[in-house]
Amino acid sequence: MASALSTSLFGMGPVAAIPMAVINIAEALIVALICRHYLTNRPVIGATRSLLVFIMAICAVADVVTAVPAAMVASLLTPVSFGASWVQWYTGHALGGLICAPILVMLMQGEFRRWRREKSRAEKIEAIILLALFTAIIGYIFYGAQHPLLFAPLLPLVLIAFRVGHMGAAASIIILALIGGIATFSDMGPLSLVFADMGERVQAFQFYLANCFLLSMPVAAELNGRRRLFQLLRESEARYRAIAEHSGDVVLNINVTGVIEYASPSAIEQVGCAPELLVGQAAANLVDPQDRPQVIAAHRRALMRPGSIHTVEFRPIISIAAMEWCEMVMRAAVDERGQANGVISTIRDMSRHKARQRALQQVAARDSLTGADSRRAFLEKLEAEILRTRHGVRSSLLLIDIDHFKAVNDHHGHGVGDEVLTAFVERLRPGLSLQESIGRLGGEEFAILLPDCDIDRASLLCENLRARLSDPIPVSGGKYINITFSAGLVELDNTSTRSAMLEAADKALYRAKHSGRNCLRLAA
Ligand code: GH3
Ligand code: MG
Ligand code: MG
Repeated sequence: MASALSTSLFGMGPVAAIPMAVINIAEALIVALICRHYLTNRPVIGATRSLLVFIMAICAVADVVTAVPAAMVASLLTPVSFGASWVQWYTGHALGGLICAPILVMLMQGEFRRWRREKSRAEKIEAIILLALFTAIIGYIFYGAQHPLLFAPLLPLVLIAFRVGHMGAAASIIILALIGGIATFSDMGPLSLVFADMGERVQAFQFYLANCFLLSMPVAAELNGRRRLFQLLRESEARYRAIAEHSGDVVLNINVTGVIEYASPSAIEQVGCAPELLVGQAAANLVDPQDRPQVIAAHRRALMRPGSIHTVEFRPIISIAAMEWCEMVMRAAVDERGQANGVISTIRDMSRHKARQRALQQVAARDSLTGADSRRAFLEKLEAEILRTRHGVRSSLLLIDIDHFKAVNDHHGHGVGDEVLTAFVERLRPGLSLQESIGRLGGEEFAILLPDCDIDRASLLCENLRARLSDPIPVSGGKYINITFSAGLVELDNTSTRSAMLEAADKALYRAKHSGRNCLRLAA
């Protein structure tokens, strides 16, 4: 409506009102769509990229396109040529849009209120003084000076952009536009010295204004961006410091040559060394010599691949917190070119974790009912023993199966059966030396590994074990149960595999069962 009204009253008349209004709306719409597409959730001013997108949207797209229909209408209704109309539309609209739109958008987005809220009293007073001085200078240039001093406002303009930010830059452009515009229209100021008609003088003033705008706004936007970045950096620094200083883990910054540049306060509890004493020392000195190569290699890997995390476990050389094992997690710190200039590492006590791991391994290696070796642990020992026989050692494997065990379960119940299995192992164990191990291969089937024991000695030992079962086993309920076992014996053969050895013993055991049980048979 405003466009149609101004075209009818001050422009080409009522005939052009509607087409010009449509073209004006199209121009604004193009700029709005481009900004919306490239600048989601970002303020138009106050950021260099946003300002650039906005300037490009106006100068490179919207006004280049809409100047065409506008010039067509103008060349139809006025004697001005199409080309001249195009240039007039383009310059007028581009300059007007550049200067007015960002300032309006800024006010509409509440930038002024935010500025008032965020700035201190001193900053506000400084802003007012600077803008008052600027107003005085502009007033003098456009109303008082004898000479064309158009260059004079440039320095204060930049100063205001630096000191007051984009609010200050916008305010100074408004002051310049108001005072300079009124003066130029009323034939005053430096532009009145130009030999040209009023239209050309106004255009020249617009150019001047756009120049001032493009000088101060991007500077203010860039400064604003840096201020924001600095703020983020300060927050992140504070966060990092809080983590490093209150963490139970030791945080170390290690430079490219492996020298400690920072150590967190927890170093005193964990390593027993004040952080300031660690600074300047080689980080490798904290590591047990056995583990140094791995730690140094991890440090090198972290430096070579910035962005990735590298973990290494090591034993510390000194530790008052009784740390046996530590885990060090490293990540490179990079400079502005993305090149690693050191490593940030956290060191964590792994001793408890390692102890748990060991306990779990021990649990896995034992049969929970009888305390004999688990099947897996026993087979590993057998494997190792077969390897030993290659050096001329003679060792044997005895496979044992309890006779008629099903009957024990059937007559006395599964619970009593379990008691018998446990007692069975307890009875046999005293007959074995520390090197000789007993494993439960499954159910009521056991195996005994007899290192440094040939088949003759093993046969004797087997009969010794049988004698240990001659007394009945006492079980709950005051009952006594008699059990016997059958056994198969094989001497380990350095060319055979583990399964071949087990199979040979199993065949012998089978023959023992078929020979009436409670006896020993040797593998063929
Ligand atoms: P034989 O070996 O002399 O031929 O007779 P057996 O009765 O011992 O033979 P078999 O191998 O058929 O039976 C083994 C029994 O052992 C079957 C199963 O119920 C029992 N058994 C296996 N594991 C356990 C266990 O963990 N606890 C108890 N109570 N019994 C078990
Ligand atoms: Mg059996
Ligand atoms: Mg069996």
